[in-house]
Amino acid sequence: METILEEHKVAEIKEILIQQRDLENLSRLRKSSAKERIAKIKAIEKYLLQPQKQELWLAALHKDLGKCKEEALITELSPILTAMAHIYKELKYWMMDEPVSSPWVMAGLKGKIQFEPKGQVLVIAPWNYPLQLAINPLIHAIAAGNAVVLKPSEIAAHTSAFLRQMVEELFAAQDVAAVEGGIPETTYLLEYPFHHIFFTGSPAVGKIVMRAAANHLTSVTLELGGKSPLIFDGTYPIDAGVAKVVFGKCVNVGQTCIAPDYVLLPKALKDDFIAAFAKQVERFYGGQGAAMQQSDSYGRIIDDKNFKRLNDLLEDALEKGAQLHMERGVDPEHKFMSPVLLSNVTPEMKVMQEEIFGPILPVMTYDNLAEVPAILNDFEKPLALYMISKNKKNRRFILENTTSGGAAVNELMVTSINPNLPFGGVNFSGIGKSNGRYSFVEFSNEKGVVQRTWGSFSIVYPPYNKTLVKWLSRIAKW
Ligand code: NAD
Repeated sequence: METILEEHKVAEIKEILIQQRDLENLSRLRKSSAKERIAKIKAIEKYLLQPQKQELWLAALHKDLGKCKEEALITELSPILTAMAHIYKELKYWMMDEPVSSPWVMAGLKGKIQFEPKGQVLVIAPWNYPLQLAINPLIHAIAAGNAVVLKPSEIAAHTSAFLRQMVEELFAAQDVAAVEGGIPETTYLLEYPFHHIFFTGSPAVGKIVMRAAANHLTSVTLELGGKSPLIFDGTYPIDAGVAKVVFGKCVNVGQTCIAPDYVLLPKALKDDFIAAFAKQVERFYGGQGAAMQQSDSYGRIIDDKNFKRLNDLLEDALEKGAQLHMERGVDPEHKFMSPVLLSNVTPEMKVMQEEIFGPILPVMTYDNLAEVPAILNDFEKPLALYMISKNKKNRRFILENTTSGGAAVNELMVTSINPNLPFGGVNFSGIGKSNGRYSFVEFSNEKGVVQRTWGSFSIVYPPYNKTLVKWLSRIAKW
């Protein structure tokens, strides 16, 4: 693989990689206690909560995504603190050897699972929740006892700079190092035989990461995206249900991996849904279209490239006959784009082929809920699936007849928060699961250890005793 990285940058990264890979270094990290690992995580917590530092990362998130303080506290800091508290409580149990029972043919042999760090791991983060999605994998990699290289997203440049500074102030490079940069830096890092790569980003780049990992048979966790559907069956109070949708689609301006990508609802509910959507947007943001630009609670599109991408998706759909609902508010200079609904969408439209990752919500209708699994089956398996319904039978029907990385009933944006639940995709939306113990296991080698405590296999050593084997096979029913 060719890279176009400047020589000094190559030298800088090489130095970090060599320092971390040193056998004594990895062995020191491997032997570190839960207390020592937690101390590192607590240092990050303390750093983030220092008023001066808090001002810095809040300002960075505002510059990168127009994120207001309140949204940053709810969607970036709170999940990090929840994950940290869970690690503090559970890590010593996760690190313990896990005894397992043995089948009778292994009489006298004791089995256990020993968790050892994978070693030196790479964490590649995206731009959409640039603080949370960098720190969350980082603290779990530390919890598992690894040396970590963190590559924040260059697109959220201010948060990336904050993260680098934080890592440099808190850690020696042989423990944790941050490498800032874009495609050349990531391509260079991907040539290196890491022991694990934890990647959060798009399915397209996920494939690049997996191909590069294959060269060294490096294990990967791929936290990807996709088109997460939202299903209404018409049994839930419309205003309350739609308020959840507006929050899910407008928080971070729809730039959330688990944002509802499109809605499926009964034909008869369409007009009510559209009216309720407009009403809830006005309630949340003091108006719709251009008026929303005055609201502090509504963020901005990350960059011009994504602004253009979203505009193109919309134009393509409108050219192909989609119908637009809601007033449009667009200010390219400030990357402001208000939420819109689209009906009459068809599979040829790009908006139905690609993950939207922005404030456009296609509304599709069905005659009978029984059609929904077949409709979903035409798409890649999504990261999340949402069902808004008061009807138990309908909810069970959807959960039992569809597949998705995670699912949430009567609430949105919650599949990633509970550290006791695995979070991640399935096939196109991701490989491997994260959160709490699931992340710890991703960053660990689960070593199966067998130890003889009594007896031996000597009675079955060659030359084989035909009578004995016959007798054994009769008992064991071989
Ligand atoms: P992206 O794939 O463009 O970038 C992610 C990371 O990969 C960045 O650090 C970037 O520098 C690097 N990268 C980009 N192009 C590369 C290349 N050609 N070679 C090597 N590295 C490269 O993703 P994004 O735009 O930052 O984030 C949006 C995507 O991430 C969406 O698809 C979203 O659904 C997904 N996402 C998933 C989760 C999850 O937890 N499953 C969370 C957030 C975002």
